Amino acid sequence: MTPTTESTSTRSAIAPTDAALATRTLTVSGMHCGACAGNVERALRALPGVTEAAVNVTTERARVAFDPALADEAALSKAVAGAGYTIEAITTPRDPRVATSGNERARVREAQGRVFFAWLFTLPIMLIMAGSWGFGAPWPSPVLHKLLMVVLAFPVLFVVGAETFRAGFRGLSGLHRGNANMDLLIALGTLAAYGSGVASLLTPMTSFAGVAAMIMAFHLTGRYLETRAKGRAASAIRGLLELGAKEASILVDDVEQRVAIELIEVGTLVLVRPGEKIPVDGRVVEGNSTADESMATGESIPVAKEPGAEVIGATVNQHGRLVIEATRIGADTFLAQIVRMVEECQTTKVPIQQLADRVTGVFVPASLITATATLVAWLLLPDFMASLARRAAAVLPWVNADLGSVSLAVFAAVAVLVIACPCALGLATPTALTVGSGRGARAGVLFRSGAALQALVEADVVLLDKTGTVTLGRPEVVELRTAAGVDEAELLRAAVGVEQASEHPLASAIREAAATRSIAPPPVEQFEAVVGRGAHGMVDGIHVVVGSAAWLRERRVDLAALDIGIDELERAAMTTVVVARAGRALGVLGIADPVKPGARSAIQALHDAGLTTTMLTGDNRRTAEAIASSVGITEVRAQLLPADKLEAIRQLQATGKRVVMVGDGINDAPALTQADVGVAIGTGTDIAIQAADVTLVHGELAGVAAAIKLARATFRVIRQNLFWAFFYNLVAIPLAIAGLLHPVIAEVAMALSSLTVVGNALRLRRVSL
Ligand code: ADP
Ligand code: MG
Repeated sequence: MTPTTESTSTRSAIAPTDAALATRTLTVSGMHCGACAGNVERALRALPGVTEAAVNVTTERARVAFDPALADEAALSKAVAGAGYTIEAITTPRDPRVATSGNERARVREAQGRVFFAWLFTLPIMLIMAGSWGFGAPWPSPVLHKLLMVVLAFPVLFVVGAETFRAGFRGLSGLHRGNANMDLLIALGTLAAYGSGVASLLTPMTSFAGVAAMIMAFHLTGRYLETRAKGRAASAIRGLLELGAKEASILVDDVEQRVAIELIEVGTLVLVRPGEKIPVDGRVVEGNSTADESMATGESIPVAKEPGAEVIGATVNQHGRLVIEATRIGADTFLAQIVRMVEECQTTKVPIQQLADRVTGVFVPASLITATATLVAWLLLPDFMASLARRAAAVLPWVNADLGSVSLAVFAAVAVLVIACPCALGLATPTALTVGSGRGARAGVLFRSGAALQALVEADVVLLDKTGTVTLGRPEVVELRTAAGVDEAELLRAAVGVEQASEHPLASAIREAAATRSIAPPPVEQFEAVVGRGAHGMVDGIHVVVGSAAWLRERRVDLAALDIGIDELERAAMTTVVVARAGRALGVLGIADPVKPGARSAIQALHDAGLTTTMLTGDNRRTAEAIASSVGITEVRAQLLPADKLEAIRQLQATGKRVVMVGDGINDAPALTQADVGVAIGTGTDIAIQAADVTLVHGELAGVAAAIKLARATFRVIRQNLFWAFFYNLVAIPLAIAGLLHPVIAEVAMALSSLTVVGNALRLRRVSL
């Protein structure tokens, strides 16, 4: 036994949640920034019984895992409300419904209204300010000017901006728990500026009331544009569900009836006319047609549908009339599963985000401290603080070092409050993950988590299972070599006798070969399958062994007479299955499993991306090498038992390699789990492959390179976003402290930085895969 070495992969972060735990997806409103997401996460994690909580600000979703004995939905709602946010909807993982987007539209309209009213009052302020600048004196008169500023700015701050103030001061009450948000910074900044306006009526202080209104107006505008852009980022996947049919024609005793889609049950017969959307997942029982399944699989070539074929709900039936029997409805449909998987992925974290999360967590309190320190420094050391500003005044028209020291202190402190917002930092990763995973879903590439995405970027080696991954997985008996004195029918009869009880793909090939020659399987007793080797049992009362040549040799069956035949078949890339009866070899079956079309170019794409490839198989070396060389795979590990496949992955990981394992997800589950990234190649509609970190819906090998390309593109966007978000704050805060940054410019820059981050992420929608 080899000792089990603990994997050093990032898997722990993406392990499926414990079965005893309940999970819920919450739609949370009121989260305006990354700091807010952190607040909601902390509030949920603080609840007894909650083991995991992850929030995505872009999709406004929180995923929570909890022990149902210790927590419930009411407790979750209370915790979120306590932190100052509202839960709009709670859904269970099996709920097919995606929270309504109606709310969202109403919120966008509301934000739009706020922007309108904010500018309605702010534009006159700006005109008056411009006028005064032009005349070189306060317009219309010094007193009236100050009064107008205070009066016009009032509704902007305290009516349209009331929501920002409310949210900000809610954050203040949670400051000691680290629960501050960026609204607090805006609220304090505009309040201080407005205060200077009121004070200016009685003292020689400069009025920044107009500046306060402009900050608020730009803030609300930025937030509105951001909400719209975030909606676009999240919409790709929500849109998928809305694509489904709402009504369907069902057949009851051959009579057609039009019903709402919710009334369809498993087993219901559904009539689908040409050009119509297929309402649910099902199996064709009557008719011939083709279906356009591009929306589900990303594959645009129409798929033929005849009786027995599976159809996917929400795909389009093309030219023929079909009667289908519903096989999956509601939350179980292919489409609902895809949406659920993508949404789950979007509420996980990309590991690189941890740093940004830690920074945003302390950013708001740190900014408050910095702003206070700035204010105090300007009040106590006005000459020293203004020294830079005095020199810069010549080139920066908005800098006026001749104002009173209190005014200058307010100017600098307000700029610090406004600029020091970690908003872009909080949006950087979630928006990229949201758009990237949505883009993948449209191409049939489903990521299970942000950690999987990052691991894929770091990958060095791609291991590929042979059967069903590199090959079609539809093996066919193409040649028979019999021992002297044995005829083909006798060989097949013995083989199918054992294989009728086996579920191995090779077994079904043998059953088919027997059926086409009209050989009925004789009864079998004491059947036993031996993993990776073969199967045996008593056929017609005589012991028959069917399996790999290596295994039969181990069992001391003399294969000397078949050696040449075995060698020839294996060199021709066929899998060989030897049949022995009563310890004597009867012959060998040559079974061919054609490689997937496109496999060669898919492997080439992986090599071009800088990865190495290795094929893993339980099959014999010669067959494996013949297949590998035909598709361009450079390395082969053959004759592996399932445990050996795991060991091969562990060995690679021990040398520091990041391993991607590509398999069919059903009999390769342990290997997929062991690898740093498990990629399951799905065929048909079964995508609920738990062991995989990435699922390729359409079964094509090219999807592996596509997944890597998309992961890299997404990660590149994340890195750019984080860099710009950090960079901008690092450069701008010192400027603000020195009094060189006008608060309004700070606000515009802040809004632009958030928009840039979201816009950069939206570019991922156009990655070609
Ligand atoms: P793979 O890694 O290609 O999926 P397996 O591990 O399933 O292959 O099987 C390895 C080898 O064991 C096969 O190539 C075949 O020779 C033999 N074998 C396994 N199961 C059976 C079976 N039921 N009938 C015949 N041969 C079998
Ligand atoms: Mg296999």
